[in-house]
Amino acid sequence: MEILDGKKAAQAIRDVLKIDVAQRVNEGKKIPHLAAILVGNNGASETYVAAKVKACEETGFKSTLIRFEGDTSESALLEKIDELNLDPDIDGILVQLPLPKHIDDKKVINAIAPSKDVDGFHPVSVGKMVEGLPTFVPATPYGIMLLLQHYKIDTKGKHAVVIGRSNIVGRPISILLSGNSNPGNCTVTICHSHTVNLKEICLQADIIVAAIGIPEFVKADMVKEGAVVIDVGITRVEDATRKSGFRLKGDVDFTGVSLKSSFITPVPGGVGPMTIAALMKNTFLACATKN
Ligand code: NAD
Repeated sequence: MEILDGKKAAQAIRDVLKIDVAQRVNEGKKIPHLAAILVGNNGASETYVAAKVKACEETGFKSTLIRFEGDTSESALLEKIDELNLDPDIDGILVQLPLPKHIDDKKVINAIAPSKDVDGFHPVSVGKMVEGLPTFVPATPYGIMLLLQHYKIDTKGKHAVVIGRSNIVGRPISILLSGNSNPGNCTVTICHSHTVNLKEICLQADIIVAAIGIPEFVKADMVKEGAVVIDVGITRVEDATRKSGFRLKGDVDFTGVSLKSSFITPVPGGVGPMTIAALMKNTFLACATKN
């Protein structure tokens, strides 16, 4: 069993981006600038946004964190997005999800200019991705593809089983893995909460992508010998021995499954860092296409 080390692979991507940014600086060109919007004080969202801002700084990007109170109105948020859309210094706009219930997240995502949609959630970006056209690919599925590429995992003709059908992970990764690309060219099955015989389907998988949000959902008896296992899940579970009071758990029972898998991502240190690296790549692309 080999670990798919997302931390290492992400660092390699960020090292290249750092050089690319330095080159832009030398040439007197604009440096990439990411604007991140955070609404409310959700602990996990705070952590994710902080990690993204830190990654920007370490790579030589500019970043601006815009905070709104949890009771901010939808119109105030939309107004800010309009302002950022028009600001020529801002290359990418990221709205950290989930948003408070009184705000329609679809409306907010649709308000972002597709040219600045570095999270790749705008319908224009999604449509282009489905058609295989160049676009901003959502960061988590893009990060998974980059991880498979980094470790030269052979995906051609393999049966990939994706568990979860969310718009941010399950659906887009199923589209990318089924595409005529490398990595890609998989035969893909998407499973979800209404799937029957999930265990039997998983046992046929050469590649499993678990994006469910239920800690340790995928057990060893659901995994074929030699399968590649990608664990997207991140759930905070109570842990009194930690200073923070919690620890992160993935959707895969790592201890059991790692005995059968050929490659497996850890949590933390797998898909998480790759998501940030993918976001950085999208932000660099947003800047480089316009400037
Ligand atoms: P979601 O809640 O939107 O979707 C979960 C999916 O799991 C749904 O499509 C549902 O049908 C499916 N599901 C639920 N119960 C099931 C069951 N019993 N059997 C089969 N399928 C079932 O979640 P999401 O936004 O896709 O996120 C999934 C997990 O990935 C969460 O833990 C989230 O925190 C994590 N995540 C991690 C990253 C990262 O960067 N590593 C990014 C995004 C999400």
